Amino acid sequence: MAGPVLMPLGTISLLTLYGDNGTWSVTVYTSSRDAPVKALRDAGTFARVVGACPLQAHWLGGQPVTGVLPMAGITDRYHRFVVDGVPVATGFAAVGDAWACTNPSGGRGLTIGIIHTQLLRRTVRRHLGDPAGFARAWDEGTERQVTPYYRGQIAADHARLAEMAALHQGRPWTPPETPMTRLASAAAWDPGAFRALLATIFCLALPRDLLGRPDITDVLDRIGDKTPPPFPGPDRRQLLQLVTGRP
Ligand SMILES: Cc1cc2nc3c(=O)[nH]c(=O)nc-3n(C[C@H](O)[C@H](O)[C@H](O)COP(=O)(O)OP(=O)(O)OC[C@H]3O[C@@H](n4cnc5c(N)ncnc54)[C@H](O)[C@@H]3O)c2cc1C
Repeated sequence: MAGPVLMPLGTISLLTLYGDNGTWSVTVYTSSRDAPVKALRDAGTFARVVGACPLQAHWLGGQPVTGVLPMAGITDRYHRFVVDGVPVATGFAAVGDAWACTNPSGGRGLTIGIIHTQLLRRTVRRHLGDPAGFARAWDEGTERQVTPYYRGQIAADHARLAEMAALHQGRPWTPPETPMTRLASAAAWDPGAFRALLATIFCLALPRDLLGRPDITDVLDRIGDKTPPPFPGPDRRQLLQLVTGRP
C-alpha cells in the first residue's frame, strides 16, 4: 500500500482494499453526472487511469479475476418510526441497513449494524412488555448513538460531490468549514487528530465526543486552516485525456 485506503483525487476517488486468498480490489468513484469518466467501465481505460496514479498504479500488478464491475444507483436511506415523539408503529424495529444506509465507501455498515444490534438488545431488555415505551426508547437511542454516523457520512458525501461538481465545471471550490472538515484537515498533519478521525471512521467514538476533547480542540486551533498537501495524480485535463485516449 502506498496511498491512503480511500484517496480523493479531483473528480475521482480511489479505494484500494485487501481481500482474502491473495486477492485485492481497486475501485474508482466518480459522480454519476460526470459522463466522460463513465468510460472507466472499459478495462483498458480503467488501467490507464489507475496506472497514472503513482500511489495506486502498483495495485494493477496482478492477474484480474473479474473484468471491471460497474456499480451505480447507491441510495441514501433513512427510516424513522416516531413522529413528534409519537410512535407511528409499535412491535417493530428497523435495524442496520433496514434502518439507514449510505455510500458504502466508508466501510462502516457492518460496525453500525453491530452497534445498532447491541442497542436493540439493551432496549428490549428494558422495555419488553411496553410496546410504546420500546418504540420511543428505540428511536431515542438510535438518534443519539447511531444517527450521528449516518449524518456524518451524508455531510461528507455531499461536500465531496459538491467539490467534484465544482472541479468538473472549472469553478473554484472552498470546502465547508465544519468541525469535522477541520479535523479531517488536521489529521493530515497531527497524529492525535489522525487517530481521532480514525476513531470516528471506525465508530469507536461519536464525532461530538471527540470534537469536545481539550486535546483535539487544541490541535484544531494549532493547525488552523492549513489544508492537507495534494495527492499526486492526473488533474482534470489529464484525466479527460486518459479516459478518451486522446492527447
Ligand atoms: C458494495 C458494498 C461494499 C460494502 N463494503 C463494506 C465494508 O467494507 N465494510 C462494512 O462494514 N460494510 C460494508 N458494506 C455495507 C454492509 O454490507 C451492510 O451495511 C451490512 O451488510 C448491513 O447488514 P444488515 O444485516 O443490516 O443487512 P443485509 O446484510 O442486507 O442483510 C439482510 C438480509 O435479509 C435478507 N432478507 C431480505 N428480505 C427478506 C425477507 N423478506 N425475508 C427473509 N430474509 C430477507 C437478505 O437476503 C439479507 O441476507 C458494503 C455494502 C456494499 C453494497
